[in-house]
Amino acid sequence: MKRDFRLFCLLLMFLTSVTAFSAEQAAIWSEYSKRVELSRFVDYWQEPEDATDIGHVVRLSEDAWTRNGSDSVNLGYGKQIYWFRVALENATSSEANTFLEIGYPVLDHIEVYISPGDGSQTALVLGDKQPFYDRPILHRNFVLPITLAPFEKAEVYLRVKTTSSMQLPLTLWNQDAFYSVEQSRSMFEGLYYGIVLVMILYHVFVFLAVGEKSFLYYVAFLASMPLFLSSLHGVAFQYLWPEATWWNDQAIIVFLSLLVLFGAFFTLEFISVSRENHPRLNRWTLGIAIAAGVMAVAGLFVSYQHMILPTIIVAVVGCTTLLLLSIVRWVKNDPAARYYTFAWVFLLFGGIVLAMNKFTMLPRNLLTENATQVGSALGVILLSIALADRLNKDKKRVFEAQQGALLEERKARLAQAKTLDIQREANVLLEERVRERTRDLERLNEQLLELSSTDALTELRNRGHFDRVFQSAVVHAYRYQEPLSLLVLDIDHFKQFNDNHGHLVGDDCLQMVAQCVRELVTRPQDLAARYGGEEFVVLLPNTPHKGALDVAERIRKAVAAMAFQLSGQTLHLTVSVGVCTELPASADATETLFSRADEALYQAKANGRNCVVAWAAPSEDATLAINTQA
Ligand code: GH3
Ligand code: MG
Ligand code: MG
Repeated sequence: MKRDFRLFCLLLMFLTSVTAFSAEQAAIWSEYSKRVELSRFVDYWQEPEDATDIGHVVRLSEDAWTRNGSDSVNLGYGKQIYWFRVALENATSSEANTFLEIGYPVLDHIEVYISPGDGSQTALVLGDKQPFYDRPILHRNFVLPITLAPFEKAEVYLRVKTTSSMQLPLTLWNQDAFYSVEQSRSMFEGLYYGIVLVMILYHVFVFLAVGEKSFLYYVAFLASMPLFLSSLHGVAFQYLWPEATWWNDQAIIVFLSLLVLFGAFFTLEFISVSRENHPRLNRWTLGIAIAAGVMAVAGLFVSYQHMILPTIIVAVVGCTTLLLLSIVRWVKNDPAARYYTFAWVFLLFGGIVLAMNKFTMLPRNLLTENATQVGSALGVILLSIALADRLNKDKKRVFEAQQGALLEERKARLAQAKTLDIQREANVLLEERVRERTRDLERLNEQLLELSSTDALTELRNRGHFDRVFQSAVVHAYRYQEPLSLLVLDIDHFKQFNDNHGHLVGDDCLQMVAQCVRELVTRPQDLAARYGGEEFVVLLPNTPHKGALDVAERIRKAVAAMAFQLSGQTLHLTVSVGVCTELPASADATETLFSRADEALYQAKANGRNCVVAWAAPSEDATLAINTQA
């Protein structure tokens, strides 16, 4: 597997480098050279404990040197100081203006000697322990210009002392080629930081809008990533803290630890690895987060040299754990875990390649150098998709719940409307019943009223009814000053009639007299009533004296003409009538009117019965009497 990977890397190197490799002692700068990778031509020598100087190194025997021979110079972590040398040869007849690039910006201290000859030359000092602006070329990597005269052979000696891993990727550039390649490098760097910056801003806004904790962790995680990579690649040193030489190393420890810390929190929150569903994994991940937190704090105080190894271990274990968590959650059907797993595969790819490179398990080349950035950019994008996906799913769930609630509400409303309808129908029915009952009651009332105002024997109106109508008739006549006439009738010698023929016959005759009266009182506003015993009254509104006398006379005649058949014999009855007509002087003139009619009746009896007498004032001596007795 490892061999396959190396082959792949070699192939890549082959494709990307302009010059072919050679096994020559010196790196040859030809007319067409744009860029020469020098790793293969590098010899190195480990400096012994007792300090040594360039003069000594120059005079070292060839046996002391080890030829690197591979495509990368990577001697791993260690406290040792190494000397490197590389021979350059300008094979052209013109001057070669070149750049020597040391593509590993975290090296602490580099002394460079170009063709020292006898060793008297003073060193050019590079390294990230020097302020950034002291560099001959202001670049995130260490770049120094070297001019080779026509056909010149030069030797470059480098003394490297570092707490980081001992890597020395050396490239000799044609200066123009360097700048043109630098353009695309810068563009890719900018692209990466641009992507991550946009992602950070975007998720800050999302967090502000949604207020969910996982977005905050994600933002912190996102922010740690470019800070870590920019520290590692010298970009942060160049742009953020060009003078902070101590912090420059420590930043790698701090940001890598923060990356693991926030990654762990974000993962726990995002794919829901809680104490309830995965108690062990939850505890383990929290443990890693705490360890990362401790590393981050320690990174502020303890030197890089002591911190780098444990930090890398925590990072590797942490990242592996987080990937494991997401796989577990994927298996448990957490929909958020799918994208998340892919994202971690990308992120880890970068991380693993970086770690393997640090421990010299992988050569240093274009792929291993950029894997972290490509992996992290892809991972970041995938994580954003994962977050958006989850947000979307949450929104969908909320929407569905809302729809459900709306449906329930609609159902409830329908049920309510139905109940109301039923209630309304019931009300209508009830109202109809009430109306019916009211109608019945009114009818019954009318019947009762009719009954209560009707005389049972004669079926004429009774006295009570007469009294009421009489009262209002007087009021009306008074109001409109109309003449009001009253007739009081009394059957003559009826006591005797009863005594002779019995009460039942008397009743029959009473009925016949009443029938006769009814037939003769015809105007709608006239009223005939039985006043009591064998007495009747007839009220004639708006009827003058003459008219009243006519009616009285007609009744008297009709009764007298009536014949009652009783067991072979024919019986006759007569009535006496008292009449009074008045324009009432007041609204309560009933009593006066009645007593005057009664007085006239009394007069009729006194006159010999079977006659009509009209009332006249007592001063007038003669009382008008129509005596129809033959
Ligand atoms: P007068 O000519 O003076 O009126 O003589 P009268 O007998 O008619 O007078 P009175 O008022 O003394 O007698 C009235 C009688 O009428 C008494 C009663 O026998 C009779 N009577 C009253 N009411 C009824 C009734 O409802 N049915 C019958 N059959 N007789 C009645
Ligand atoms: Mg009487
Ligand atoms: Mg009588």
